Amino acid sequence: MAKEDSSTPTQQSPAGNLMEKIVALTKRRGFIFQSSEVYGGVNGAWDYGPMGVLLKRNVKDAWWRAMVHEREDIVGLDSAILMHPLVWKSSGHVDGFSDPMIDCKTCKKRFRSDDMDGAVCGLKPSKSPLACGGELTEPRNFNLMFETFLGPISDSSAKTFLRPETAQGIFANFANVISTTRVKVPFGIAQVGKSFRNEINPRNFTFRSREFEQMEMEFFCVPGTDDDWFKKWVEIRKRWYTDLGLSDGKLRLRDHDKLAHYSKATTDIEYLFPFGWGELEGIANRTDFDLRQHQRGIRTVGKWDGGDLSSVELAAEDAEYQKGKLSYFDDEKKQRYIPYVIEPAAGADRATLAFLCDAYAEDNAPDANGKVETRVVLRLHPRLAPIKAAILPLMRKDGHPERARKIYDDLKRRFFVDYDESAAIGKRYRRQDEIGTPLCITVDYDTITDGTVTVRDRDTMQQVRVSEDKLRDLIEEKIGL
Ligand code: ATP
Repeated sequence: MAKEDSSTPTQQSPAGNLMEKIVALTKRRGFIFQSSEVYGGVNGAWDYGPMGVLLKRNVKDAWWRAMVHEREDIVGLDSAILMHPLVWKSSGHVDGFSDPMIDCKTCKKRFRSDDMDGAVCGLKPSKSPLACGGELTEPRNFNLMFETFLGPISDSSAKTFLRPETAQGIFANFANVISTTRVKVPFGIAQVGKSFRNEINPRNFTFRSREFEQMEMEFFCVPGTDDDWFKKWVEIRKRWYTDLGLSDGKLRLRDHDKLAHYSKATTDIEYLFPFGWGELEGIANRTDFDLRQHQRGIRTVGKWDGGDLSSVELAAEDAEYQKGKLSYFDDEKKQRYIPYVIEPAAGADRATLAFLCDAYAEDNAPDANGKVETRVVLRLHPRLAPIKAAILPLMRKDGHPERARKIYDDLKRRFFVDYDESAAIGKRYRRQDEIGTPLCITVDYDTITDGTVTVRDRDTMQQVRVSEDKLRDLIEEKIGL
């Protein structure tokens, strides 16, 4: 048997700065690196390494599974990042997607004026810009959209933006989806993709980045049923996080009292990160605002001369707007109307970070010689774990590697598994603990004679002997497939 430490580990509270430990682990184990690190890095952009890409993909897959795959009333979409410039006028982003910004004339740093308490002075990092004595400007609005140009000519008619949210691609495809599928209101359109915001102060690791991924769904419903759907979606979305193992006690719902102009109600799902509460997802009742705005926008196209978008007047909302392309015809009631929209908008990077923070644990566990040491373990939900099982030959001889490879070759057709013969068994277990692998399968002398292997559980560290042909079922059961 692959002897290690089979007594149950005792959990301890991680000492020191938890966030620093998590950041260090994600770098050490290939989850997250700073973008362009070898060039000194860029602020607000992150690269997901070999483990991170698997974890984040599993987060997005779990979302897609819950939102599209397992629902009859939601379809998927993958719309382009680059859109017609008028989309951003109609959506309100050209005129209103800004944060109030304050410049410090002394240290030349920029701050969000609504986040001055958490900011630090550029010259005296121990002080806040409110206390360092630097000369501050009055707040002014700073549009968060990244500008770019379609084609080689950089004039105003070619100017567009990297999308700051994925939602507008959904609204712009509302009519296409209706005419090409059998959806009927109430129904949703979901998509996962990159968004870009030129955040004034990107910070808290990946929490506030300039390039990030969103998982958004627009749920179109009959006006009057929107309040019920809103409540339902808040519940469904909160449960998604707890079903994937996020601690209920570290999640809270926060109703907005100051609502955005398009919203009738907004509730954020927040997680208690080591740096404090932060939004994972916002659920908004957007009424019929977006479809109506785009209805006006598509009538503006012919009138737009390619000039500066901020001075464009959208076409008026006349009596005809109810019949436009972005309205819905109810075949049974013979009625045409503009549906209301409930939007659960989540961030893939923030969810990934929350799962990482929640999973990080340290416990006291005896090593192979019985010496108690601190073990770092990522207690990720098996469905999210980058690697589902590691196949480890006990020895690098006596037929163990060949037998282990055979098991690996069989399992890899079904699951993301790892083969590792590189170090002492205890060290290999610890490495898998740190990346959150739920099961370690060890091939030893008994395997050669009776076809059984030891399966070690990441959380309890208990080992059981099972027959090789039971491994697929065991992993499936663990993941909950
Ligand atoms: P915040 O108030 O934190 O700036 P927001 O309310 O502007 O976020 P939304 O526009 O509702 O965010 O976007 C939906 C989701 O997209 C957020 O809940 C978050 O998970 C994610 N998100 C938004 N901005 C960022 C960012 N700069 N970095 C990473 N994720 C983000």
